[in-house]
Amino acid sequence: MATEPGGGLVDTHCHLVLLEDRGLLEEALEAAAAAGVEQIVSIGLDVEDSDRNRVLAERHPGIFFTVGWHPHQKTAPDPAQMRDLDALLRHPRAVAVGEVGLDRYWRPGYHEVPLEVQRRSLAALLELAVSHGKPVVIHDREAHDEVLAEIDVRPGVRGVMHCFSGDAAHARASVARGFACSFAGTVTFPRSEAIQAAARAVPDDAWVVETDAPFLAPVPHRGRPNQPAYVAATTAALARLRQIGVADAARQSSANARRWFGLPAPRGGDRLGNGAARR
Ligand SMILES: [Zn+2]
Ligand SMILES: [Zn+2]
Repeated sequence: MATEPGGGLVDTHCHLVLLEDRGLLEEALEAAAAAGVEQIVSIGLDVEDSDRNRVLAERHPGIFFTVGWHPHQKTAPDPAQMRDLDALLRHPRAVAVGEVGLDRYWRPGYHEVPLEVQRRSLAALLELAVSHGKPVVIHDREAHDEVLAEIDVRPGVRGVMHCFSGDAAHARASVARGFACSFAGTVTFPRSEAIQAAARAVPDDAWVVETDAPFLAPVPHRGRPNQPAYVAATTAALARLRQIGVADAARQSSANARRWFGLPAPRGGDRLGNGAARR
């Protein structure tokens, strides 16, 4: 059985602007196309970062962007910033709201944003997503129940649990609320038994894969800056856990990604490496 997916992959969550800032963007896009990545969802962190992702999405076939406000932002978006996020979301290549969420992990220097500020940001962006009928990309670090509680009070919210870090029960609870579980490099780490159990338990039509590049490279690439090409390793890990072939895993996760984010079929030409970049 093949151990590499061989094509048809979608990286549903990475930060191409951060790769660009590190001078790694062009080689990362070439490597991704060579590894069979056809489409990328590049995730916004605030107004300026979302706007820079818009520029990349306009320039490259196969790249789409989200309009986000990361929980590490020190303040919740003010009315002018909300208007900017709203305007960006009207762009034809804007596919989701986020990332946004709650992050209760604490270590000195990681972030020191009070939970109350994070909660205001989350509420504002969940309402933005509902008003636009867009999915939301949730960042949930050690805040599973609080995140679900915020979702439960807003009917019509749906989306993706990015870098899924819960167990099988949390995967089922998320899917029951209209969310897909997005598995990242963490699912390949040896001590991630609970996340691996979630990857086995999630229904066929409710999981996707991501890199969260440049963070958190999967096994066997740990210690290097992550890049979208490495989504192949995470797809192979999901195939092993779900006991299906890697080509089937690629097909399943990519079909789910297109459904969840409303991406066009790559056969229509909107895929990575298809001709020269637009200017
Ligand atoms: Zn995140
Ligand atoms: Zn991220």
